[in-house]
Amino acid sequence: MIDETLTMIPGPTPVHPRVLSALSKPTVSHVAPAFVETFRKALSDFRALGQSASASPVVVSGGGTLSMEIALVNVVSPGESVLVVSQGYFGDRYGDLAAAFGIRADVLRSEWGRAVTPAELGDRLSKGSYAAVTFTHVDTSTGTAAPVEAYCGLLRGRKELVILDGVCATGGVDEPFDRWGIDVLLTAAQKAIGAPPGLALCLFSERALARRKSKSAVPAYYADVLRWLPIMDDPGKYFATPCVNEIVALGEALRILHEEGLPARFARHQRIGRAVRAGLEALGLSLVTAPDCRADTLSVVFLPKGVEDAPFRKEMASRGVVVAGCLGPLAGKAFRMGHMGNIGPGEVAKALQAVEESLRALGVFVPPGSAVAAAARHLPV
Ligand code: PMP
Repeated sequence: MIDETLTMIPGPTPVHPRVLSALSKPTVSHVAPAFVETFRKALSDFRALGQSASASPVVVSGGGTLSMEIALVNVVSPGESVLVVSQGYFGDRYGDLAAAFGIRADVLRSEWGRAVTPAELGDRLSKGSYAAVTFTHVDTSTGTAAPVEAYCGLLRGRKELVILDGVCATGGVDEPFDRWGIDVLLTAAQKAIGAPPGLALCLFSERALARRKSKSAVPAYYADVLRWLPIMDDPGKYFATPCVNEIVALGEALRILHEEGLPARFARHQRIGRAVRAGLEALGLSLVTAPDCRADTLSVVFLPKGVEDAPFRKEMASRGVVVAGCLGPLAGKAFRMGHMGNIGPGEVAKALQAVEESLRALGVFVPPGSAVAAAARHLPV
């Protein structure tokens, strides 16, 4: 990107040179036949990432927050109720978003570092009914992965639509749209898909589109999927100018993703996740996230006693590795390390070595080489 720094934050993530090269191709007309074909292929590759035969992809300029908004306002009307299942900052954002549109949000919240259990969700669902339920697959603030398959099982046969925020998961973690019974999967380009930021991506089920079509209007113009569906069916048509270069780059990122293959890619994320956690724990660090819900895409780690956030991240940066600080109640107490998308064993080793050296530079005794050695046990040579 701007320099050779290794960006290990929970997004944007490092972008493959093939994607950067696609991004730098000359900007062409949004209706140029070659671009229209590239857009069409990117849309079908995105649907294939959701392993769906029938979902309708919608890809527009924006990011994760816009995709959250698109998902919600098209299927839930002002005055209706939504159940927001939250395990952190981004789950809570759905509550705020609902309020901005006059949608009533009932928030079922876990403690930070844990996920709402299927039993807790089942209990809440037995007491009320909603137009939709929102889940956050991986909440980036806490590194918690929600048991989405089990949640979806509880919604099967009910009228609530399932909205899944996959911003920090899609492309790195399995999300079989049809099999799980998801109605809207929303995500962004800049995390596990490995493209630059700039796009909001959604998949809509037939049931979700039927819900939208049953409404005469929604409180949105740009975010109204009915304006976009004709363009997604035929990207040669115009509603609003697509960000041509970003879509070409997304197409290349999805091509790389499918060349690797979904099972191999998900297994790689699991291995990398295990390796990072083992390395951090070998340094005596504690993870914020409970053992049964640790995400494969990022780790959230308590800073050891006596180590402050700003000096720690400065030491890391001086070793060429950027990690992120924390949000909300964890701000100043923990740091976040992303390990999704194009992150491989080399990046993991560099990042863990930097953590080890940074801690030592700040006066914490850590056995030399211990983090990388512990991680290596989980990675193929
Ligand atoms: N949902 C989740 C789970 C996220 O991690 C983020 C971004 N960190 C968002 C939504 C919002 O995405 P964006 O910043 O692209 O608007």
